[in-house]
Amino acid sequence: MEIFINVILPIPLEKHFTYRISENEASQLKLGMRVAVPFGKTKLYTALVVELHNRPPLVYEAKAIHDILDEEPIVTSIQLKHWQWIADYYMCTLGEVFRSAIPSALLLESETLILPNKDAIIDEDQLKDDDFLVYEALKYQNILHVNDIMEIVEKKNILPILNRLIKINAIVLKEEIHEQYKPKMVRYVRLGQRYNSEVELEVLLNSLTRAPKQSQVVLSLFHLQATKKKPIKLNELEIESKSSRAVIRALINKEVLEEYFIQTDRVVFSGGKELEPPKELNEYQVKALNTIRQSFNKNKVTLLKGVTSSGKTEVYVQLIEECLSEGKQALYLVPEIAITTQLISRLQEYFGSAISVFHSKYNMQEKVEVWKNVLNNKSKAQLIIGARSALFLPFANLGLIIIDEEHETSFKQYDPAPRYHARDAAIVLGGLFNCNVLLGSATPSIESYNNAQTTKYGYAQIDRRFGNVLMPDIELVDIKEQHRKKRMKGHFSERLLEEITETLDQGEQVILFQNRRGYAPILECTTCGHSPQCPNCDVSLTYHMQRKQLRCHYCGHHIAIPNNCLACGSNTLDTKGFGTEQVEQELNTIFPSAKVGRMDLDSTRGKHAHAKIIHAFENQEMDILVGTQMLTKGLDFRNVNLVGIMNADALLNFPDFRAHERTYQLLTQVAGRAGRTKKRGKVIIQTYNPYHQILKQVTTGDYEGMFREQLYEREQYKYPPINRIIRISFKHKEYNKLNEASAWFAKALHNASEIKVLGPEFPPVARIRNQYLKHVLIKIPKGVPLQKTKKNIKRIQNSFDAVSQFKGVRIIYNVDYM
Ligand code: ADP
Ligand code: ZN
Ligand code: ZN
Repeated sequence: MEIFINVILPIPLEKHFTYRISENEASQLKLGMRVAVPFGKTKLYTALVVELHNRPPLVYEAKAIHDILDEEPIVTSIQLKHWQWIADYYMCTLGEVFRSAIPSALLLESETLILPNKDAIIDEDQLKDDDFLVYEALKYQNILHVNDIMEIVEKKNILPILNRLIKINAIVLKEEIHEQYKPKMVRYVRLGQRYNSEVELEVLLNSLTRAPKQSQVVLSLFHLQATKKKPIKLNELEIESKSSRAVIRALINKEVLEEYFIQTDRVVFSGGKELEPPKELNEYQVKALNTIRQSFNKNKVTLLKGVTSSGKTEVYVQLIEECLSEGKQALYLVPEIAITTQLISRLQEYFGSAISVFHSKYNMQEKVEVWKNVLNNKSKAQLIIGARSALFLPFANLGLIIIDEEHETSFKQYDPAPRYHARDAAIVLGGLFNCNVLLGSATPSIESYNNAQTTKYGYAQIDRRFGNVLMPDIELVDIKEQHRKKRMKGHFSERLLEEITETLDQGEQVILFQNRRGYAPILECTTCGHSPQCPNCDVSLTYHMQRKQLRCHYCGHHIAIPNNCLACGSNTLDTKGFGTEQVEQELNTIFPSAKVGRMDLDSTRGKHAHAKIIHAFENQEMDILVGTQMLTKGLDFRNVNLVGIMNADALLNFPDFRAHERTYQLLTQVAGRAGRTKKRGKVIIQTYNPYHQILKQVTTGDYEGMFREQLYEREQYKYPPINRIIRISFKHKEYNKLNEASAWFAKALHNASEIKVLGPEFPPVARIRNQYLKHVLIKIPKGVPLQKTKKNIKRIQNSFDAVSQFKGVRIIYNVDYM
């Protein structure tokens, strides 16, 4: 009987693909192993085996596989179930999940591959437009084929582009098919076999009396072996014997010494210190911990709402310790790993080398190492800290998942597919392992708090800051009035300046928040009103003072700052609005002796840039730190006593149904950076709208009030958590084609079901990179089965795909869009 395998290919196919295998191959293959398979005329892919069977495919002749790539499965059966759930729920293909779940180094492919050089620090300004497009695409995809690149830049001759990118070290090329993963090998030395006998050894030492340098090396090796009783590294010997590599090399050539290699892991911590016992919890923490434990007995998913600096992390530490002591693995998800250096070093004090960090900025080899350690349940992979993609690791035995700052929207993947929410996907993963899941936040999402209220989740809370430090004193400052009274200096109110002066006088630090980078969003001509637009996107160019450029934040297009209006030629150009760069500049004029730092996307491009800024601020090398929302995420600075919000209104007015909830969360989180140790912190919020309900709720810490009002609004307008939403986006470079296609689709949705269909509508930025964009939003009431609705949508898409005039229109599903 013939034997077949079904595999997942790392491409967006709706179905599994079937290949033929021999009996010999069948005896070696297990589910979850990789095979190299031919596909189409010339392609070769890495595929994942998900089924062995005897059913030949009906519509095509099954091809033979090329190779079996693993000796043991590298993907577990739980992972396969989890991936299937993600594909079904988020309306994408298993291939897309496979591709993004597995480190790209484990995806062998044919043809020339273009990989990003993750270690390079690239000045994006210097890139030509085409180069930038390729560079940007590689941020999301890790590997591109030559064909992909031709498509991206819409050109046949892409060699000049690749050459330029290679020259600046931005990319790496791989020609042949091979395993990309190479474990890091370390060079060791020992005495040659022959000299194991004492007689031979004596002869050797005598013979070396005429070569004092070589003799020194051999004696040093003896010394090291006697004192260390461990394998001796070549470079250790080099240092100990104070001799050159050449001398050692000569001894190796004479076979006096023998070199050998041991595979080591790259991901090592500098630790070696004694571990700290967990801190003793205070009464509020103990109470929360007990509530959580009880709740885990009946409700696997539990929400911990604890005000900023209440000591949630210490509660997590207790739970992690319990989990590890039962011999199970724990997963600690954070919204953004790059800015969690503080958290990681804190957890290392307790758990030392049991921690593995899964980091998007790690190179491919490092990721594979974490993958394999987690799979094999190694002692160094007991506590895994990572951002959303850590969810895809091959856990052997998961006992606990912690999702810190669960309200953060960066848990939702935006692009490419799978567009999953890491919190929700983690809860499903927790279900598959039957393990405990704890969500933590000072400002839970409306969804999660609602789930706790309706007892779908368990619930615990901590209302006090650790050490009984008071919650910061929050003051609203009316800048409309301040402007009227001419009390503003630049973008600073008198009150804010007073507080900054006082804080600096006391030797304390200040954080200033402005959620816009650059100098000013818009450069405008006061004569004719013209402001320069991006030629590729429907958006004004942002003014960047330091680089002397106008830049598009969507596509990277930029021009030098013009001296005269491009429309009417007058020189009456002025900026509108302001960003972090301008705040920084004003501070330098108003407080010339203060040291000012800035943390935003522009100042944190390199691999360690975040950590450096955080470290410098911690060490008080800066007095004032100006930043965007990067500042909000769980930073714990000891000496910050003042937080200033430059302008709360832009947040409130953002066109999105979650804008108010987010403003509450963002402001409360930034405010929470003030006064975390002894003294009560101070927060100044500047606004044109001091009577806005959300701002009042922030001032009084009235989360409950905010929740009730927002939930009421969501009920009125049928948004989550009352309804489910799916956003369907349409993209094409022809305006008319896009309009027709999206209208056709929306109408079909209307006719097909009882769901509510909004749009198609253009978003505020309706064209990005010369592609027009339109959205349809569907709202699905709780009672309507989601799977059925999704099936309907897919059916409509099938008909849509058959309409020749809509060819080339891209459709993107975003389930639970946020
Ligand atoms: P949260 O995560 O709730 O914002 P943290 O866990 O960062 O709060 O705690 C705030 C500060 O209080 C930290 O510096 C932490 O070390 C300290 N802390 C919290 N709990 C304890 C405890 N039980 N004993 C000693 N220090 C604690
Ligand atoms: Zn003009
Ligand atoms: Zn643009």
